[in-house]
Amino acid sequence: MEKLREGLWRLNDEADCTAYLVVGHNRAYMIDTGMGLPPLMPQIRSVTGLAVELLLTHAHPDHFAAAGEFDRVWLCEDDREILAGSEPLCRRFGVPLLRSERVRFFRDGEGFDAGGIRLEALQLPGHTPGSCAFGVPEWKELFTGDAIGSGDIVLMTLPGASSVSAYCSSLERFVRRTQIYADAEWRGGHCGQAGTPGTPSYNPPRMQIALDMIGLCKRLLDGRILGEAVEEPNAPGGRALRARWGTAGMVYTAVA
Ligand SMILES: [Zn+2]
Repeated sequence: MEKLREGLWRLNDEADCTAYLVVGHNRAYMIDTGMGLPPLMPQIRSVTGLAVELLLTHAHPDHFAAAGEFDRVWLCEDDREILAGSEPLCRRFGVPLLRSERVRFFRDGEGFDAGGIRLEALQLPGHTPGSCAFGVPEWKELFTGDAIGSGDIVLMTLPGASSVSAYCSSLERFVRRTQIYADAEWRGGHCGQAGTPGTPSYNPPRMQIALDMIGLCKRLLDGRILGEAVEEPNAPGGRALRARWGTAGMVYTAVA
């Protein structure tokens, strides 16, 4: 576990999935679990003895593989169907199923009190309908999962992903609600995809990517930018479109 600041740790696994541990005065929250990690609980116990609950940014198996280690697992209500339909992806990734009976569902805007700090759920439908970022206002830290991607591409091809036009509206609302995090580097769900810090190509999630993503959506919608066809194993038929604008990029299947 890599300590990022007092009360915050990061874990990167072999599959380039990133999980975070947020520790308050009386409770800890794990944000996602990754899927290539050794058991998490011994690592968590090496830094805190507090009760720890799991917050999932969305219902994709590469984020919940170790959910079985947690007594309390939280997921946005709007990803309930994605979770129920996740068996094919679980099989492909070799990840145990997460049964919805084991999950507590929260709604957009709900808060999680860790004592001294709290996490707020900020829903950004797109990658999945219930994709959420979790903000810690006291720290100005924002954990974005896959909601705007972790580097220069957001993936909008898996079952349940929004159209470009619906994603555009989600992003506009999200940007309005995340102004207090505007100057921070955001923490994505696959850290390695941002590239190497200190190099010119380093492109971590941050407000500028969200703003450029809105610009990209608008240009795709009015035809100023046309996507190029790419092979995409996650898309129906194995084909999708890819487009870029500024710091943002998207692989998608439906515009309207
Ligand atoms: Zn995902």
